[in-house]
Amino acid sequence: MTQRIATPSKTKEIIQANSFYFKKNFGQNFLIDSNILENIVESAEITQKDCVLEIGPGIGSLTQILAEKAKKVIAIEIDSHLIPILQKTVGNYHNIEIRNEDILKTDIDDIIEKENDGKPIKVVANLPYYITTPILMDLLENHRKVESITVMVQKEVAQRMQAKAGEKEYGALSVAVQYYCHTKMDMIVQPSCFMPKPKVASAVITLHLRKEPIFEQIDEALFFHIVKCAFGQRRKTLLNSLYNQGNLGLTKEMLIQMIQSAGLEEKVRGEALTLEQFGILTNEIAKRKNKYDIENK
Ligand code: SAM
Repeated sequence: MTQRIATPSKTKEIIQANSFYFKKNFGQNFLIDSNILENIVESAEITQKDCVLEIGPGIGSLTQILAEKAKKVIAIEIDSHLIPILQKTVGNYHNIEIRNEDILKTDIDDIIEKENDGKPIKVVANLPYYITTPILMDLLENHRKVESITVMVQKEVAQRMQAKAGEKEYGALSVAVQYYCHTKMDMIVQPSCFMPKPKVASAVITLHLRKEPIFEQIDEALFFHIVKCAFGQRRKTLLNSLYNQGNLGLTKEMLIQMIQSAGLEEKVRGEALTLEQFGILTNEIAKRKNKYDIENK
């Protein structure tokens, strides 16, 4: 086994030898515990068949272990100062491709097409926390060809992704993630495992993209519009949120009918609805709204 980058002394040595300074605005907290990194790769179930997209390789600690398990690793790093360092630390692995790009501007579909013949890839990352939600939502909402996503995020964010109706962490992110994926909490990681130490605990979570859509038939845009309204004003009833913010062109009486035909109480709060109930309500609204729109044309 090649020497691991992720030890406190090796990381310090690389940082000092290259006069590298951590940049807070890029969310640079490097992992210095190789057991955690081995566990991340194990959680992602990486095999020789996999093409992996790594977001933010840093000095290559995770990249190195991924490369030893995967067929290919495409590592996207925004910080140009890290590119020559990566070339030194992991440049001898023939199956790693390092790109100096902003992941939010990267054409991920093109990578999947060209690097993996259009077959689903796996995403593995110790994510820069400031862009966790935009990265994940880009992958999910745009239906990128991804088999699974194994990421280190803030512990609280991982809990929100997993939360069910009735739990205090439940929100629009929980619904969005669970709509597209099955979630599995892999481990909690303490600040002492990073250099520099972040202020809060982190967690590794794996999202397995659903092979079949959760609902047989759904107007996805309407579903997420309803979810956004429901959680936009958490203290209000679902009825008032939909009426005030929904812009659905429906009267309050019609909305009451639709809520009731979805099997819900008139005074229910949006945050109380399960994913399935959001689905039923969406179909109820879509069905009656279409009929109403046609009749009133
Ligand atoms: N993978 C390394 C590790 O585990 O030690 C570094 C993880 S560090 C939390 C996040 C990394 O993402 C940093 O290297 C940072 O420069 C990079 N990064 C931040 N924003 C990025 C972006 N928009 N696109 C690509 N990489 C980014």
